[in-house]
Amino acid sequence: MIEYNMPLYRPPAEANSFILQVTLGCSYNKCSFCTMYENKEYKVRKLEDILDEIEVMARLKPDTKRVFLADGDVLNVDAVHILKILDALLLNFPKLQRVSAYASAFNLVKKTNEELILLKEKKLSLVYYGIESGDFELLKAIDKSIKPTKMIEGLNKASDAGLKISAMVILGLGGKSRSKEHINNTAALINACKISYLSTLELGFEKNRKDLFYKRFEKKLGEFTFLTQEEMLKEQVLLISLINPSKAVIFRSNHASNTFALKGVLPKDKLRLIDELNFVLKNYDLSSTKMSFE
Ligand code: SF4
Repeated sequence: MIEYNMPLYRPPAEANSFILQVTLGCSYNKCSFCTMYENKEYKVRKLEDILDEIEVMARLKPDTKRVFLADGDVLNVDAVHILKILDALLLNFPKLQRVSAYASAFNLVKKTNEELILLKEKKLSLVYYGIESGDFELLKAIDKSIKPTKMIEGLNKASDAGLKISAMVILGLGGKSRSKEHINNTAALINACKISYLSTLELGFEKNRKDLFYKRFEKKLGEFTFLTQEEMLKEQVLLISLINPSKAVIFRSNHASNTFALKGVLPKDKLRLIDELNFVLKNYDLSSTKMSFE
């Protein structure tokens, strides 16, 4: 059996994938809104332990088609190490179709074009990427200080190498005071990127993270006021209305945090998605504030 180091996270779309822990935790681990790996010390697992687990799973489920490489940001790992793991997956799972991983904003830019092409050739074909926001002032205030131009560079480099990108944006991240800049700059960033999937989450806090987030935000940008559910959906309307991708983007808003589930393809379904949101805004009382996941 495989013993996972908990907590273990994976995207909803990877529910049926073989989850293989290549790293533990997140190499960055400083974003003030995120508690995912707060109690884990980052490390890259030993190759022999990973290869043992691949062999165990190959005996249990030799027909495995999809593998998700956990934890937080496997693309921080040296490409040679990842390629050895991908080779072992290809050898042990003849029906392998897709390998995916989370990629942090900080590590995608560090990989060379050649490395990304090699990884794609060995079936690493999808990365999940938390854009969170395209507003640099906001990113600095929440301790995820990467320039949007760097994100665009990293994402387009990966896309040009043939990897698909599933990007995530957090509604409500700028509170009331930074809402306009958050959405306008995020839409501009998305329009400059070649992504395949986009999803929007709604800001929420686990455990005691709220106080730290407010403190960090208020130090740089003044008072933080949490958006009501109505205001979150209005942000979503504005974001969708501003997104004009050069190629079709599959849009999903089906995370547990979302007030209302949406799905469609942008830009084709833009008006229908906005109509659905406006219907909810008109017919439901969304004046309350959802602040916690607990
Ligand atoms: S990079 Fe991702 S996993 Fe790491 S702290 Fe930030 S949001 Fe959390």
